[in-house]
Amino acid sequence: MQQNLFIYNTLSKKKELFKAINPPYVGMYVCGPTVYSDVHLGNCRTFLAFDLIYRYLQVLGYKVRYVRNITDAGHLEGDGDEGEDKISKKALLAKVEPMEIVQTYTNDFHNVLQQFNALPPSIEPTATGHIIEQIELVKTILQNGFAYEVNGSVYFDVDKYTLTQDYGLLNNRKLDDMLANTRNLGGQNEKRGKLDFALWINAKPEHLMQWPSPWGMGFPGWHLECSAMSNKYLGQHFDIHGGGMDLVPTHHTNEIAQNIATCGKNPVNYWIHTNMLTVNGQKMSKSLGNSFLPHQLFSGQHALLQKGYSPMVVKFFMYQAHYRSTLDFSNDALNASEKGFKKMMAAVDLLPKLMATDTCDININQWRSQCYAAMNDDFNSPILIAELFDGVRIINSIYDGHLKIDAQNLALLSQTFTLFLVDVLGIPLGNNENNDTAVLMDFIVQLRNDAKQNKNFATSDKIRDGLQQLGFEIKDSKEGAIWSKK
Ligand code: AMP
Ligand code: ZN
Repeated sequence: MQQNLFIYNTLSKKKELFKAINPPYVGMYVCGPTVYSDVHLGNCRTFLAFDLIYRYLQVLGYKVRYVRNITDAGHLEGDGDEGEDKISKKALLAKVEPMEIVQTYTNDFHNVLQQFNALPPSIEPTATGHIIEQIELVKTILQNGFAYEVNGSVYFDVDKYTLTQDYGLLNNRKLDDMLANTRNLGGQNEKRGKLDFALWINAKPEHLMQWPSPWGMGFPGWHLECSAMSNKYLGQHFDIHGGGMDLVPTHHTNEIAQNIATCGKNPVNYWIHTNMLTVNGQKMSKSLGNSFLPHQLFSGQHALLQKGYSPMVVKFFMYQAHYRSTLDFSNDALNASEKGFKKMMAAVDLLPKLMATDTCDININQWRSQCYAAMNDDFNSPILIAELFDGVRIINSIYDGHLKIDAQNLALLSQTFTLFLVDVLGIPLGNNENNDTAVLMDFIVQLRNDAKQNKNFATSDKIRDGLQQLGFEIKDSKEGAIWSKK
């Protein structure tokens, strides 16, 4: 690779030169969504950060196998080891099959990411599709002596593990500190140690999603699926593993423990974690009730919003912060991003109109290197965007006749914009059909909501049926109507 890419590694707590295990191949695993509710904008921030990373690695010439899972079983209410699986709970409430919940929210997730022009992963495995692999992993961990069975549940033995390994490695915390800060989660009376966590959970007869296992009917613990699926598709030792920062203390800490207990190997070379999208300084989260859904943002249908913003403006807003910084959500910040975005796109529109001259006042190569340098410094998208704004100034000056550029540099200027704006940031030039459709659909759905609110059901049904004939489905939910392409 011609470029030296530096990545901040949560494991070593420093930026490291990226070296792929088996170049040009790169294995990257990102924890995907739990599909029991709509993805909110905070979730989107994390997935868009990894879209940027995936795209840039490919721009550098790596062949990336990007695995992003779908958690469709095992993620419990309150993240304890007892209680109801979030998906089962929702299915019971809605009186539908758990797999209907899974399908609805998987569709929503795909639809939202498509509106943001995110690339699909290479493999998108589901937890329910890998129960056999998860059971095999539990068997191995039991055989290796790092787990124990109680009443049909299997728990990971953290005390035993810490005799030879550093359990707080990723989180940079000492065991005593972790013990002091552990909440009393479910299964405490069965667990030997306070930090022990469930690998397999015995299911009560009424539990909707359960599978036969050597320990009776049950379902896997949440952390297990990522160990099983990364292992299956990327091997015991792979390059990059990512997710939101909130996954470090438990989910990823336990994932590492499971992998080491299975094969003695630390599974990942570079752990990458994204920081949180916040609202008034507080993490955006479904449970805190401060979350925005992407379609609310696109259509402006939210009490805290002054207006709607296109998906590309929202993405531009997100990339104007580095993925390891928090990003606070506000109307002012979005308005500023929209202004900047329009300015950039207006300049890009001028590119085909620029005329080359025999003389040249600028060195485009140097500016292009600065764009690379920004991304090579731990995917620093805000610096890249600042560099692109320098490019905007160059374009405008050439257009106004204040700067001269020769044909070779003009071609490089144009190419660099395409490379970084389109290929790296994933922002298409000119009119993008997908995004236009998204904006139009949000507008039509808003019209239908208005009709419903005014009890004009004939019109709201007509809009729904008409859209259905055109291949769009509208589903009503608590948060408002959601559309998807059939
Ligand atoms: P979940 O569906 O809750 O498992 O979350 C999916 C991904 O979104 C995980 O990687 C989380 O860390 C991430 N995430 C959740 N809330 C936020 C937030 N407010 N900002 C950024 N990422 C988030
Ligand atoms: Zn995971």
